[in-house]
Amino acid sequence: MTIRDNIQTIGERIRAAEQRFGRKPGSVQLLAVSKKHPSASIREAIDAGQTCFGENYVQEMVEKAAELANDHSNLDWHFIGPIQSNKTRLIASTARWVHSVDSLKIAQRLSDQKPADAPEINICLQVNISNEISKSGIQPEELAALASQIAALPGIRLRGLMAIPAPEQDFAQQRAVFAQVRALQEDLVAQGFTLDTLSMGMTDDMEAAIAEGATIVRIGTAIFGTRA
Ligand SMILES: *Cc1c(COP(=O)(O)O)cnc(C)c1O
Repeated sequence: MTIRDNIQTIGERIRAAEQRFGRKPGSVQLLAVSKKHPSASIREAIDAGQTCFGENYVQEMVEKAAELANDHSNLDWHFIGPIQSNKTRLIASTARWVHSVDSLKIAQRLSDQKPADAPEINICLQVNISNEISKSGIQPEELAALASQIAALPGIRLRGLMAIPAPEQDFAQQRAVFAQVRALQEDLVAQGFTLDTLSMGMTDDMEAAIAEGATIVRIGTAIFGTRA
């Protein structure tokens, strides 16, 4: 299977899941997670029509973005990894989207450091839901207060929530966890926040995430193969 074939297959899986779970056709966007894969692989994905790429490591994102910018002016880079505050300037200069914001400090720095001529940076707040292994992410009870402070910052636009549940094989269990994220988003919307993005679902739990309202699925392995 080539990268082109994989992108085709994932597109079909997304459309099938949209249909099966009553989602609007085209309402789920594919983010190709290219971390630890070379620019040559990204070029193959671009040739297959993919334009949004997710990266976890700042230096790697910046290098690939610079390398590919010569030939492609239409790529959107999404930063999805843990954020150290001394790396926010590089993120702000490269990424159109940042999915992994988990503190006011990081949001404030992205807001301050966005280049004046660049469009607003789209932000998702990473939530720590019940079965997370990692300690990263915002606790649900802290979400609303943080969202109101972050939504007020210039230069960035709060779009929604992102979650990385622990691996789980059972489909109903996967859905139950994503349903918690969706409920948190609905609470925020009920409080008046304008949110349109749920970044959730990876190679092994994509369908469950789409069933529960994902608008961006972040897919690495099923497109680029296993990572070194
Ligand atoms: C690596 C990664 C992905 C992609 O995971 P796959 O299982 O390879 O599809 C998605 N989201 C985040 C935050 C990641 O770090």
